[in-house]
Amino acid sequence: MPSSSIRARAAQGTVKANAGNHVQRDPDVLDGFLEDAAHFPGGHADGLVAATCEADVANLLRGSLPVLAVGAQSSLTGGATPMGEVLLTTSRLNRIFKITNDTVHLEAGVTLTDLDAALRNAGRYYPPTPTFMGAFVGGTIATNAAGAATFKYGTTRDWVQAITVVLPTGDVLDIERGQVSADPDGHFDIQPMRGATTRVPVPTYRLPKVAKLAAGYFAAPEMDLIDLFIGSEGTLGVITEATLRVLPVRPAMCLAFVPFGARLSALAFVRQLRGLARDTWRTKDPHGIDVSAIEHMDARCLELLREDGVDVVNGVVIPAGSEIALLITLELPPEITAEQAFEQIGSCREPSAPDGPLRRFCRLLDAAGVLDDVEVAVPGDLARANQLLAVREAVPAAVNKRVGLAKKSADSRIEKTAADMIVPFDRLEELLTIYETGFGSRLLDAAIWGHISDGNLHPNVIPRSIDDVKAGKAAILEFGRQAIRLGGAPLAEHGVGRNAVKQQLLELLYGNKGVDEMRAVKAAIDPEWKLAPGVLFSRR
Ligand SMILES: Cc1cc2nc3c(=O)[nH]c(=O)nc-3n(C[C@H](O)[C@H](O)[C@H](O)COP(=O)(O)OP(=O)(O)OC[C@H]3O[C@@H](n4cnc5c(N)ncnc54)[C@H](O)[C@@H]3O)c2cc1C
Repeated sequence: MPSSSIRARAAQGTVKANAGNHVQRDPDVLDGFLEDAAHFPGGHADGLVAATCEADVANLLRGSLPVLAVGAQSSLTGGATPMGEVLLTTSRLNRIFKITNDTVHLEAGVTLTDLDAALRNAGRYYPPTPTFMGAFVGGTIATNAAGAATFKYGTTRDWVQAITVVLPTGDVLDIERGQVSADPDGHFDIQPMRGATTRVPVPTYRLPKVAKLAAGYFAAPEMDLIDLFIGSEGTLGVITEATLRVLPVRPAMCLAFVPFGARLSALAFVRQLRGLARDTWRTKDPHGIDVSAIEHMDARCLELLREDGVDVVNGVVIPAGSEIALLITLELPPEITAEQAFEQIGSCREPSAPDGPLRRFCRLLDAAGVLDDVEVAVPGDLARANQLLAVREAVPAAVNKRVGLAKKSADSRIEKTAADMIVPFDRLEELLTIYETGFGSRLLDAAIWGHISDGNLHPNVIPRSIDDVKAGKAAILEFGRQAIRLGGAPLAEHGVGRNAVKQQLLELLYGNKGVDEMRAVKAAIDPEWKLAPGVLFSRR
């Protein structure tokens, strides 16, 4: 029977990176930590501590200085940009302790790349990774990161079994899923090492029912305490260790880059694949189509790829007149060989060919009239898979490059102006039309891509002037209202961070009252507002 109360313990380890003695203040060292991937302006830090153990983290937090924990600083929201705090890098907390059949126990500073390599050696698989594999495990938990494969596997939250968190007091909590849940009256009790019990109120707002959500604190009646810390963006505690669930077997994967001449045909194809994949999961049909991810790039994205020569470099033909392209991940039985895969593809038009998932998939492509334009990477062909993934990854890079150029040549105030919204898949066409109209009426150049299998797309302005940035922000707020109206959320996977528009979207989603309830949680756990001040919401 879970309890609503948890007892803190003292930090373990011997303080090495002593906050008093070992705060790095060398400007050359600090310089490398003043920006995250959002290129949020104005980053400055009071120092840097590279923790090597739990005690280092606790020692820093017991001091009086505000602290910002960072992982790989791949945040797209400014959440990992310091604004005068001491930076606490987890890069040296990078040990993988133990891999079992279905879990991995590790420190927060392990990168997803290193985790994936270790799991690959052990034949295991951790699926809910964001597109950027340089991210640290602690960062992905702190932001409840999600990725392309959320459609099949859910978000980071679904895979976190246990965490160790150092609280702003320096006390430590070991939280295991299923052990501590909120009292029916709506609170948790944290019993500290010294002093009175801290009562933490559970917010009363209800989360939208969407496949992924990174919108401030999780809340639900009798929720698990672990869910409060997952997605809290470093504002409630510093995650030092985690136990993650893993899959005992790594599936074989086939990637397919599929251009379509018309958006509606592509959406119909995605709808069909979503339905067939769910049937396969339910029936466990060995020949069934099992899709874990469908990525999307719109016509402007495809134009950018051509302008930058990405199609040629990666040997991908994007037919003239393509309105949209999909990058589909099809999962296949682990034992399938490349030869068998090619055989299924090659014989897909033969009516008497034996059944198989890849053959069924190719027949669907054929029925949709796109089979001849498809580029495929069969299981085991890592070189081809990397080329297809490079095409998808080149899209945000192309937009970022143009934002950077405009900032240099037109106005230094120009910044990345992008959103990360999700709606139930059946409302996606409506949202796409809203994006088109909203950008069109403001005469904005924009590209849209993302995780279409979840109804999660990233509209990005390609600004030419500061007026474009202003108009883009207004458009994003309008899109956020519409996404909420359609039963979705304006903050799907990147979180809120310090981004002013995203903080406004958080208020649109939960109202002032909801954000005040988040402030009450923060005030209970971090009364001095020491951790990540300004991230998620202001103090008021
Ligand atoms: C090219 C690219 C693609 C991306 N694709 C995706 C995607 O598909 N899906 C997605 O969800 N995100 C994506 N992101 C965003 C980013 O990768 C994720 O948010 C990631 O989870 C951040 O991890 P990080 O280690 O870089 O954390 P950071 O950026 O360093 O930190 C992010 C936040 O977490 C807090 N934090 C970090 N470590 C800890 C810790 N140990 N304890 C407590 N708080 C901590 C920080 O204070 C900050 O608020 C992408 C980013 C890039 C650059």
